[in-house]
Amino acid sequence: MSRPVYILVALLLCAFAIDAAERKSPIVYVVKRGDTLSEIAARYRVSQRQIKRWNKLRSSRIRAGQSLKVGLPVQSGDWYRVRRGDTLSKIARQFSVPVYRLKAINRLNGDVIHVGQKLRLQPAAPVRSASTDDHDEEQREYTVRPGDTLSKIALRFDVGLSFLRQLNQLKSDLIRPGQKLRLRASRLDEAVHVVQEGETLTEIARRYRASVSQLQRLNALVGDRILIGQKLRLKDAESTVHIVERGDALWEIARAYGISVYRLKILNGLRSNRIYPGQELKLYPDRKLEPNAAPTSGPRLATYVVQRGDYLAQIARLHQMSVAEITRINKLKRNAVIHPGDRLKVRPMRWVELSEIDWDDLQIHRADTPKIASGNGPYYFSRPRNKRQPSKTYYEDHPSPPSKTYRQAMRLWREFESKVGRMGRLSSRLEGWHIVLDPGHGGLDPGAVVLTRDGNGKRLYVVEDEYVFDIALRVYVLVRLHGGHATMTLLSPNHLIRQNEPATQTFVNEKNEVYNLAAYNHWPRGSNLSTRVRIARQALAKAPRGRRIFLSFHADIEPKAPEAPLVLYYKSSKSGRTDRVSRQFARSLLPALGAGARVRGQGLGVLRNNPADVKVLIELRNMAYRDHVWALRFEDLRHRDAEKVVHGLLDHAARATRRAGY
Ligand SMILES: [Zn+2]
Repeated sequence: MSRPVYILVALLLCAFAIDAAERKSPIVYVVKRGDTLSEIAARYRVSQRQIKRWNKLRSSRIRAGQSLKVGLPVQSGDWYRVRRGDTLSKIARQFSVPVYRLKAINRLNGDVIHVGQKLRLQPAAPVRSASTDDHDEEQREYTVRPGDTLSKIALRFDVGLSFLRQLNQLKSDLIRPGQKLRLRASRLDEAVHVVQEGETLTEIARRYRASVSQLQRLNALVGDRILIGQKLRLKDAESTVHIVERGDALWEIARAYGISVYRLKILNGLRSNRIYPGQELKLYPDRKLEPNAAPTSGPRLATYVVQRGDYLAQIARLHQMSVAEITRINKLKRNAVIHPGDRLKVRPMRWVELSEIDWDDLQIHRADTPKIASGNGPYYFSRPRNKRQPSKTYYEDHPSPPSKTYRQAMRLWREFESKVGRMGRLSSRLEGWHIVLDPGHGGLDPGAVVLTRDGNGKRLYVVEDEYVFDIALRVYVLVRLHGGHATMTLLSPNHLIRQNEPATQTFVNEKNEVYNLAAYNHWPRGSNLSTRVRIARQALAKAPRGRRIFLSFHADIEPKAPEAPLVLYYKSSKSGRTDRVSRQFARSLLPALGAGARVRGQGLGVLRNNPADVKVLIELRNMAYRDHVWALRFEDLRHRDAEKVVHGLLDHAARATRRAGY
């Protein structure tokens, strides 16, 4: 480890040791000429009456040079360490909290307190109702008080120091008591915007406090014309900085740019693996601060070979760049035309390139299993009549009865399973774990079917069950490669993992999936959730306690939920009974799933009476958002979703092993 890093680590450790939440005595404010009591009260968010009481003032008249004691408002999580001479009523008066409340918050029976004792001044954040996302409980704003430093606040609220500066547009680290600081990002901090119906460029520019010409330059727009679903970059960053988008996870960013998570955290003053949409992450050390750091040969970039049908805006979008950036890095002329075979320098974000697996090796080549090449395949035995999903209501039935369909699906599956088994191992980190993977829909139930448009404005339809099935299969492979035991609840008789090149070749709604147990295949009813639970019960019957996981994958339409992965655990809507173990598991998946991911409790049938130790439903994508519909169509982004899930499982397994004391 180089010395500068060592020093930074030491600084971080010191900062952890200081709990920033302690309340100090009131601050002293010296009245300036022209000040009024009401102004001072407003500035510190207290009432005039409080200031009068603290200073024993009879009237509101104040004079320049006068010293006033001002107590700062108590915030959630605040505490006070009892000093010599303190009494409960004195503390209550000092912080304007009634004695009975102080006693209730601190569960005190009498009035006796001890020097050095910690007293809470406000209860921890309140717990909201079942339908509320967990993360909304968090404090979004903080009022600076005496003794605070920016780095202490950053640590306390788990915001990176540089992000705290970014959020509050601070030029220096000087802060003053009473100053309000934003702790969490909002939509307006993000670096991208997906155009909605009826929006104009002028309006978007105004909302994000950007200029129209800036947006035109960043996105190579000619005039004011924008398309619904178009993803606009709102700001640019140097190649040494990564602007976090929704869904980006710290581990992925680190891997893409070839640095360790640890290093990335040090560089950005991060305490945990949480990052936020719009956050600017430094990827390389600042020369001024770390002159002795190992020299880097400049920002790490990847090469992208242009395919037929590609256009610059889409390549930029896939690599999380602006058109302006891709043009600049490649020294392209304005409005340059690109050709298949051209090599472009891009950010190293095309996630699948980083995988160590040869996916083509999982295709089946056997004389008794006829393979049919197709742009959205491969298919075996039979393929859909259409090349893409042609409408919202279109579907294709499977010609054979369910029992025969099941036998065919099993034949394909056994072949696939043994191929996966012969691939070797990435690790043995999931050894001993049993994981049931449930594609949330299938058979007669396609889940959500959504109309979207490609870059040329052409209509496309995305069918939920076909895409989440593909992601579940990728999770299956990765779980096995890490030594885990995996069971799918559904199987398909004519395909395994599918590619779709180009992404406009959408998967067709085929109602041919069957349950992965012979006894249940009369005709699969997708809504028959108890069958999935029964399959799980059978699959987990011999699995060791504490190591049984059930994951149900979805990409539903939920306009009220945010545009980010959502992990759902069981919570009864009637009694409020909560599956706490699964809730904890759900929360622990968030850092792996990426910026903006959330958890929520809901009374879901597939999670009730489910035999697994932890069971959650993961909305990998929310098809109420065009950007997510767009992402599902790309094989590498589906693969990325699968990797996130598996990364979360690996984290969970590692924690369980640590707890067990190995
Ligand atoms: Zn669904």
